[in-house]
Amino acid sequence: DEDLALLGGGHGDAHDAEPDAPLPVLAVVGRPNVGKSTLVNRILGRREAVVEDRPGVTRDRVSYPAEWAGRRFMLVDTGGWEVDVLGLEARVAEQSELAISLADAVLFVVDATVGPTATDERVVRLLRKSGKPVVLCANKVDGPRAEADASELWSLGLGEPHPVSALHGRGTGDLLDAAMRALPTESEHGVVLPDGPRRVALVGRPNVGKSSLLNKVAGSERVVVDPTAGTTRDPVDELVVLRGKPWTFVDTAGIRRRVHQTRGADFYASLRTQAAIEKAEVAVVLLDASVPLTEQDTRVISQVIDSGRAVVIAYNKWDLMDEDRRPFLEREIEKELVQVQWAPRVNISAQTGWHTDRLVPALEKSLESWDTRISTGRLNSFLGELVAAHPHPLRGGKQPRILFATQASTRPPRFVIFATGFLEAGYRRFIERRLRETFGFEGSPISISVRVRE
Ligand code: GDP
Ligand code: GDP
Repeated sequence: DEDLALLGGGHGDAHDAEPDAPLPVLAVVGRPNVGKSTLVNRILGRREAVVEDRPGVTRDRVSYPAEWAGRRFMLVDTGGWEVDVLGLEARVAEQSELAISLADAVLFVVDATVGPTATDERVVRLLRKSGKPVVLCANKVDGPRAEADASELWSLGLGEPHPVSALHGRGTGDLLDAAMRALPTESEHGVVLPDGPRRVALVGRPNVGKSSLLNKVAGSERVVVDPTAGTTRDPVDELVVLRGKPWTFVDTAGIRRRVHQTRGADFYASLRTQAAIEKAEVAVVLLDASVPLTEQDTRVISQVIDSGRAVVIAYNKWDLMDEDRRPFLEREIEKELVQVQWAPRVNISAQTGWHTDRLVPALEKSLESWDTRISTGRLNSFLGELVAAHPHPLRGGKQPRILFATQASTRPPRFVIFATGFLEAGYRRFIERRLRETFGFEGSPISISVRVRE
């Protein structure tokens, strides 16, 4: 039951042993035409090019689950990344740097028949600076005669060059053995790396356009088939580079692979949504702009807020939006979405790609709010002014006094107010409203709790 498995709780299967252990990341790096894509296809056991073969099309999808000698890892492929002919060297360096920063170990590919170029040397400097383990692949060694070319790559100072023919498969087993030795058993990402990719969940009721949006942003209409399907679980998270920055889209398996459930479909959909939200930092709630909001929509929104995640509201299928519906939509936004008035809204079409570029700025905004910390000094001077101008209403001749407040946590921002008595819900909402007016918090839920002190 893969729905339950998404929750990651002990289901006895070996891969569930450490549900939270992120897979280690192996990045394939090198200048264009050295054979990175060919090598990646070879490792993934695919014959056809993964690379989008329409010229000029950037393929943004970069990571694929892979397995060698019983070990699972994520393979980051930089082969399809757009490289301008002008300023090529700088672009390669920039992209390599990003890939290296994501990786736990790097597979550096050099064309042995050409030998090291200035661009290769530049990548070598980045690799040294990173301190990450590197496995050197001397590619295009199609036969024994070319082995000599490979040994010349000792000069790069990266240790032993592994002679490989990505095209014919020669030497790739030894190369992968070396890569597995270089790769730690678990990734350090998500836990340790402070600037690792941020985690996004695409949520919404069935048919709202989640998989269309994922395909659009991942730049691939293809569902990537795991070569060992049936023996391993589907790829769960996908790493996608958007506007030059890596983002992890969590639990995409549940989106890409629709499970047709006749009974309890809502329940499973909701479980899957919850699982995705738990793993994410920010959730994009997709709504269908062409039809009225449903109860299921508002339930998803509540799930996100209750989980304390940052939120972006995306009205999808805007291309189908009838002008006649517009006044209703406005009313809906005002009434039904009152609980997320503070969330950034984007109107998009996952199908045509219209305005999907507005997603990233909205995600960044919400995450920034989610991370915000207000200093105790600022918070208390804000509260002092607020209370002076609008004191808590008198109740039975008594008036609770606010003594002190502090922000107890971020992600999301949580505030604790110490007062001499219970603060009415209406007054707490008033404080929240003023907090938002003063400090923003666009896209993040915030919470206020009150501790009573005599
Ligand atoms: P990328 O730009 O680094 O991803 O390189 P590609 O994988 O697209 O390969 C560039 C060219 O080199 C293609 O024409 C490949 O067929 C060719 N190529 C890749 N690996 C080998 C190899 O091991 N031997 C030979 N002879 N050609 C290769
Ligand atoms: P999911 O169940 O949330 O993953 O939804 P899908 O991505 O599978 O989309 C459900 C249906 O809505 C499909 O037929 C899509 O082609 C269609 N769809 C998705 N996004 C849009 C959009 O922006 N405009 C239009 N017109 N149709 C869309």
